[in-house]
Amino acid sequence: MRQPETIGEVVETGLCIGCGLCEAIAPDRWTMRMTPEGRLRPASIASDPMADAEILAACPGATVEADTSTAPFQDKVWGGYTSMTRAWAKDPDTRFRAATGGVLTALGMWLLNSGRAAFILHCAADPDAPMRSRWVISDHAEQVYRRAGSRYGPSDTLAGLEKALSRGQRFAIIAKPCDANAIRARAKTDPRLDDLLIAVLVMVCGGASDLGKSRAVLEEYDLKEKDVTLFRYRGFGNPGPTRIETRDGRAFEKTYLDMWADESGWRIQTRCKLCPDAIGEASDLAAADIWPGGAPSGEDAGFNGVICRTAKGQALMDAAIADGALASDKALGPRDFDDFQPHQVNKKHAIAARLRGLSKAGAPVYHHAGLRIDVLDAADEREEDGAEQRVRSGRFAENMPDPTETKHG
Ligand SMILES: Cc1cc2nc3c(=O)[nH]c(=O)nc-3n(C[C@H](O)[C@H](O)[C@H](O)COP(=O)(O)OP(=O)(O)OC[C@H]3O[C@@H](n4cnc5c(N)ncnc54)[C@H](O)[C@@H]3O)c2cc1C
Ligand code: SF4
Ligand code: SF4
Repeated sequence: MRQPETIGEVVETGLCIGCGLCEAIAPDRWTMRMTPEGRLRPASIASDPMADAEILAACPGATVEADTSTAPFQDKVWGGYTSMTRAWAKDPDTRFRAATGGVLTALGMWLLNSGRAAFILHCAADPDAPMRSRWVISDHAEQVYRRAGSRYGPSDTLAGLEKALSRGQRFAIIAKPCDANAIRARAKTDPRLDDLLIAVLVMVCGGASDLGKSRAVLEEYDLKEKDVTLFRYRGFGNPGPTRIETRDGRAFEKTYLDMWADESGWRIQTRCKLCPDAIGEASDLAAADIWPGGAPSGEDAGFNGVICRTAKGQALMDAAIADGALASDKALGPRDFDDFQPHQVNKKHAIAARLRGLSKAGAPVYHHAGLRIDVLDAADEREEDGAEQRVRSGRFAENMPDPTETKHG
């Protein structure tokens, strides 16, 4: 299987997830733009393919690695871990406001309040265009609290990485699993990451929709994006409703199940369908939903499944519990997570065949290591043929964005 050789090839073959790392590493050559389809992608300002080798070495469209092999517990599907626990934010307001049980927000707040980190790099609704997300640096716990919740559209958190590193202070990142893969790869050549980045916290991720999913919700209510003052995908309960507010004082709500009932309208980005690590194997700690069977049967108080991946993640979790930032009541195991996340189990078994399909159709494939993709290969020919056909029919093909477009497209 051949790897993509340029950033352009990553984007044009559907392997880009729009993480923003290109812009952070080379802002003089790459700038993140929203494509007409509603995907954040790097637009070329100046061409220097030789220099882009540095980006490709960490780009999650070109390489995906994790190494959990030294963790004390090992599972073929879920990888290495130090513990799996049911937990939630001890502060009831944080727990209510956050996407699930507020573990990621409570950890971010506690890292700041305890002086372990000077700031958190993560993402939040864009105040000027609340349906969209943008990377943010939170210096105060109150900011992390206000920015709780899952953003189901495009997010380019790593576009803020250079700004974060250039502050020369200890910090943590809250992001997606693919962002964690990129961070780990980047740390091989940027020693500032080992010195300054004290924790990589991620959510387990079923895939990021393009903005078309959110635009469809607006269309349903006959709303224009310019009229929207709030677009909250979930939270304020678990899972909580999707809520839209408008300048003229109207509010619209959809339940989580209504929002995600029709899978054909999810508009999940291609890279997500090919994702070899949506479970945070490159993170220190991953937080998930834990609904039996994989879907909520109603609202509840908010419970996260937390997978500590590293000794560092475990130490943070233990200290946050000891300090009263988090509560936890029971240990979980990999077979519990199979039940909570059947889509992740299916994906782990399907990825090898999908990648073969890509390769058969002549498309490039990212390099991967440490993710057990070949061991878990279910050798499903339908998956392989499906991926091959999608490449041949052009369904995975994308165009490079125009750098003269605004970020809002
Ligand atoms: C696109 C997407 C798909 C998901 N799919 C699954 C799934 O399949 N299974 C599952 O168990 N859980 C999934 N989740 C995760 C789930 O919604 C919760 O985020 C997770 O359980 C953590 O809950 P929490 O209460 O600790 O998060 P919170 O305390 O609300 O914290 C969320 C944090 O994540 C950051 N964040 C939110 N959205 C993004 C984003 N798009 N990119 C980068 N950072 C972001 C925020 O800045 C915030 O700091 C998904 C989340 C997203 C964004
Ligand atoms: S995945 Fe990230 S690093 Fe790779 S091309 Fe896309 S934005 Fe750039
Ligand atoms: S499914 Fe994978 S590629 Fe897609 S956003 Fe989630 S972690 Fe990133």
